[in-house]
Amino acid sequence: MVAYRIELADLRAHQFRVTLTVQEPAAEQALSLPVWIPGSYLIREFARHLSCMQAWQGRRPLVLEQVDKARWIARCAGRAALRVSYLVYAFDTSVRAAFLDTRRGFFNGTSLCLRVEGRHSDEHRLEFARLPKGWQVATAMTPAAPVRPGKPSYHSADYDELVDHPFELGRFWHDSFSARGVRHEFVVAGAFPGFDGDRLLADARRICETQIAFWHGPRNNSRPPFKRYLFALNAREDGHGGLEHRASTALLAARRDLPRADMQALSDGYVNLLGLISHEYFHAWNVKRLKPKEFASLDYARENYTRMLWFFEGVTSYYDDLMLRRAGLIDAPRYLALLAKSVNAVRTTPGRRVQSVADSSFDAWIKYYRADENTGNATVSYYAKGALVALVLDLRLRQHHSSLDDVMRELWRCGSAQAIDENDLAQALQALSGRSFQRDLTSWVHGTQELPLESLLQPMGITIDEGAAGLAPSLGLRLSEGPVTGVQVKAVLADSAAARAGISAGDELLAVDGWRIRKLDDALQWTSQQQPFELMLVRDQRVQSLTVRPDARSPLRRTVRLSLHEGAGREALAKRRAWLGQ
Ligand code: ZN
Repeated sequence: MVAYRIELADLRAHQFRVTLTVQEPAAEQALSLPVWIPGSYLIREFARHLSCMQAWQGRRPLVLEQVDKARWIARCAGRAALRVSYLVYAFDTSVRAAFLDTRRGFFNGTSLCLRVEGRHSDEHRLEFARLPKGWQVATAMTPAAPVRPGKPSYHSADYDELVDHPFELGRFWHDSFSARGVRHEFVVAGAFPGFDGDRLLADARRICETQIAFWHGPRNNSRPPFKRYLFALNAREDGHGGLEHRASTALLAARRDLPRADMQALSDGYVNLLGLISHEYFHAWNVKRLKPKEFASLDYARENYTRMLWFFEGVTSYYDDLMLRRAGLIDAPRYLALLAKSVNAVRTTPGRRVQSVADSSFDAWIKYYRADENTGNATVSYYAKGALVALVLDLRLRQHHSSLDDVMRELWRCGSAQAIDENDLAQALQALSGRSFQRDLTSWVHGTQELPLESLLQPMGITIDEGAAGLAPSLGLRLSEGPVTGVQVKAVLADSAAARAGISAGDELLAVDGWRIRKLDDALQWTSQQQPFELMLVRDQRVQSLTVRPDARSPLRRTVRLSLHEGAGREALAKRRAWLGQ
């Protein structure tokens, strides 16, 4: 057995102390810490937060030799248990690492738990030393009988399971609901008074029930593939994100996005939060169980490449908002507005003509998670375009008396050990529709051509038209605009009016035609989008002027809008209802 004792050693210094015990260690026992966390495809080097590592066998101190950035060898004599103790600095507010202060603790096993090489399929046990008074523990890991009273303890079948169960610690709001007979717990840390927990619970439950019915049908006797599920949400002033796990998810949301007791209509922020809940829950099937072949066994020491993230993240992104519609939480026009946002995000990304979503998936490790000012010009998001590929696959399948819903269920049922590659997808598409999707996959997934959105949405009774974009997007500028002063260019889109004028990422924009601006749209009060204007800016502390010539023919001048076509025929209406729900 491998056992970890977790001590909240110093709340103010944000330090956990971990003591690892390995029964019957090898003569040269290797220990290593993961360099990444599954679900977030970037090398994060968690070992940089480890310090003061010491080892013993019985009472005898051992020499620990560090052999690379994240790996150590303990030279043991005999079978006496090996004990290793170390500190972990934890001050990362994201869902991907570890955090500890006087109010709250959080960690993933990938940040705290050294992997005992050769023993990763042994049973693992995790136990807490004394917790601060009033603190609770939330996790979906299986509780073990407490070794000592008041010291919560858990166990897992192997290391993979250990690091797939994040822990939330502190004083938090918590409640639970049952969906299809399965207990779902919801924990919220950091909520303001007046937060409407009942509302959050009721809406989350509708999402869960809709998704369970999606995967397993309406019959009450089929169950989701987990015995219980935990939503662990941390509310902060700012932030938005989540990470999926086999029986839980860690969520980060802005406090103002939580529902309030006096809330009338659903705020955009709350819809965004419900979309996040829906997204991470869908992952419990799509990526945690149905997964890329390359993830059948994970290597924690290096990048794990796959060209299929567009499918696992894109399809999940497609269904996250669609499930809100099907659960009846938002109406069809609101769903179409969310869909139009994704359409606009992709069509204002010049990188869609440079990189395919298959390549975007493969390069996630060095591109998606390392965005800079050139990202929009050189890459496309496998989330955003992946979701649109899922949309066109779904709509094309619906022309052939099938749907992406059917394909997902077929892959779920047939995937050999549920690890699939693109061939498995191509076969499922063909088997259910009676037509080959090879050319579509080549173009949509491996190519950079535009997706046939208009020709596929129109037969569903959806109208596409265009509205005017604001000044900054029209010129091809992505800006950060401060509340008081300062307009800074974050990125300049290729082949745009801003690029032709010579504006550069990092420029601070001061004035338009001699008038000071606080937001670029301020300039619309004295200039038009038709006339050239003088732009005064600061670059590396030097003030200079440029002439900007708006381009009336640029597609960036317009944004796409989607709406229900009121005069749609009966066939289109039936298809639309099957797709979007009643
Ligand atoms: Zn995701």
